[in-house]
Amino acid sequence: MISGDRRCLVAGNWKMNGLLDEAMAYIEALGENPAPEKVEIAIMPPFTLLHPMGERLERKGIRLGAQSVFYEEKGAFTGSISPLMLRDAGCHYVILGHSERRDILHEANEVILKKLKASWKAGLEPILCIGEHLDEREAGKTNEVLREQLSILEGTDPAAPLTVAYEPVWAIGTGVTPTLEQVEETHAFVHEELKRYGRTCRVLYGGSVKPSNAEDLMSCAGVNGALVGGASLDPRSFMGIVEAAARAVS
Ligand code: PEP
Repeated sequence: MISGDRRCLVAGNWKMNGLLDEAMAYIEALGENPAPEKVEIAIMPPFTLLHPMGERLERKGIRLGAQSVFYEEKGAFTGSISPLMLRDAGCHYVILGHSERRDILHEANEVILKKLKASWKAGLEPILCIGEHLDEREAGKTNEVLREQLSILEGTDPAAPLTVAYEPVWAIGTGVTPTLEQVEETHAFVHEELKRYGRTCRVLYGGSVKPSNAEDLMSCAGVNGALVGGASLDPRSFMGIVEAAARAVS
């Protein structure tokens, strides 16, 4: 069902958290060989930790990702980081379209599309986040919102690597999760929508994933892994989610 028969992915989005000492202790706490056979692990620390963490994570079989990127290659864009810089720092993934950037930094679809194209050009794999707000779900507009967010894929190369993360905004950092039925229903819709653009790719679930609910969420049809925020900050709870993923796919 997923092109290339890819493993499920558990990705940790550290957001604006993490200092050098903490990051080194975290990597140590992950142990020697943290990735189970059927699970891919990725960590997205803040930009300042990409270089010091990259090689150390690679030695443990963990991929590195960034939380955002600018769409130009280089030049007079004070404060911005380019896709080439992310590649240079060892990144494989970049998160795009996270709701915190859509809502707080007003990133619109047009900008996300530019970032998507620039990331592909540099050889990065984007993790494109989509998701509805609570009022939109309550108004029965979930599919409409997701369709609009995915519409930026129109005309893009279906072979360019992509992972999508469905993250209901009302579930992010709230401790509230959708019902398993809602998760399955929405993931089925997202996979169908992706077919319109010639794509069969992984669709992660994100929003208050923790060790106690991870196995149920990742056992849902159409869920191909998890994007984890808060619970990825503690190595034990992050590894608890990785182990739950391994059980869910076995
Ligand atoms: C996120 O920010 O992508 C996220 C899913 O956060 P949390 O796990 O804390 O809800």
